[in-house]
Amino acid sequence: MAPKGNDMDTLEHIPFYDHHAHALYHEALWRAAPLGAYFTEAYDPVIQQRFAQDTLFFRRSMRDLGELYGCEPTAEAITDTRLRHDYAELCAELLSQANIQHLLIDDGFWPERLWSVEESRARLPLPVRRVVRIENELEKLLAHHDTSESLLSALDGILREAGQSAAGFKSIIAYRTGLDIASSSVPEQERSFERARREGGQLNEKSLLDAALLLGLRIAAELRLPVQFHTGYGDPDLDMRLANPLHLRSVIERPELADLKVVLLHCYPYVREAGYLASVYRGVHLDLGLTVPYTSVASMRGAFREALHLSPVSKVLISSDAQRTPELYWLAARWARRSLGQALRQTVEDGDLSSAESQWAAERILWHNANELYAR
Ligand SMILES: [Zn+2]
Repeated sequence: MAPKGNDMDTLEHIPFYDHHAHALYHEALWRAAPLGAYFTEAYDPVIQQRFAQDTLFFRRSMRDLGELYGCEPTAEAITDTRLRHDYAELCAELLSQANIQHLLIDDGFWPERLWSVEESRARLPLPVRRVVRIENELEKLLAHHDTSESLLSALDGILREAGQSAAGFKSIIAYRTGLDIASSSVPEQERSFERARREGGQLNEKSLLDAALLLGLRIAAELRLPVQFHTGYGDPDLDMRLANPLHLRSVIERPELADLKVVLLHCYPYVREAGYLASVYRGVHLDLGLTVPYTSVASMRGAFREALHLSPVSKVLISSDAQRTPELYWLAARWARRSLGQALRQTVEDGDLSSAESQWAAERILWHNANELYAR
């Protein structure tokens, strides 16, 4: 893959390596889902129904989708037009219009409602690979074991096997007990395990989750697989104070993990913090998916600028974090290219990069950085 051309206005000629996304809805769910639900991370029905349509993201996206479908830029007209399409064709068409040429799917989100990795691979015109969510694998095993040691040893086996074909591992521990990961003794892990078994429901036991994560990180380091961490912005299941990537220092500094490739996903609003980490720790990379396209244009452009305050260009990535509906991949790719183009033009005006270097930076960030990081 050798991207050509030098159109900094759209960057459309550069393929997009989408290294963090989820799969598309099964068709019946897609047809039933209201358009507005795709434009907010809120669960609160009052936010969803009354306020979500007043964000800059929503207003901008209605004009984008009106342009895409050749209809009025209103939710009603867009809904009407999009539902007239053949769903499978629309999915393939929008991903190819977005010039997404490689897709990594974290299949730990809504697995019953979305296509599996195999279904995505069969239905989409591009290479699709799996990213394995460590916490989901742990939860699936929980009911089948009587001790934390037996549970963690089963997890070890599952992750090693999945790691043979996966593109990487992912952790959503920020959503559970936060990024301040700590070691614990086996008796502590056992007590944590017993509480988890007693309480049932979502696993929120810190000693057990931290032990499982540290195990996953050691396996990833051995198998030379990158590990993605959810950091920063997300839905309100998350305590965003505990999602600051600076908490990961104790993990990143472990000597046995020095060569582990860590990808800080999303980062908003902790983009400068993530850029700092990428500038001082060899394994750390940062991603701006979800920041793009869920925030204003100024914020998306600003996030690329802030990432590049300190981070080497070769450690900045962009993903769609899209899921459920094909328009989200298309919107993410459109604004990834536009806001990156705007940020890089500024680096040329400022004298940070030459025009040729800004072209190189665009190709690194949209394609080469991920393509090298996730190469097997
Ligand atoms: Zn995601």
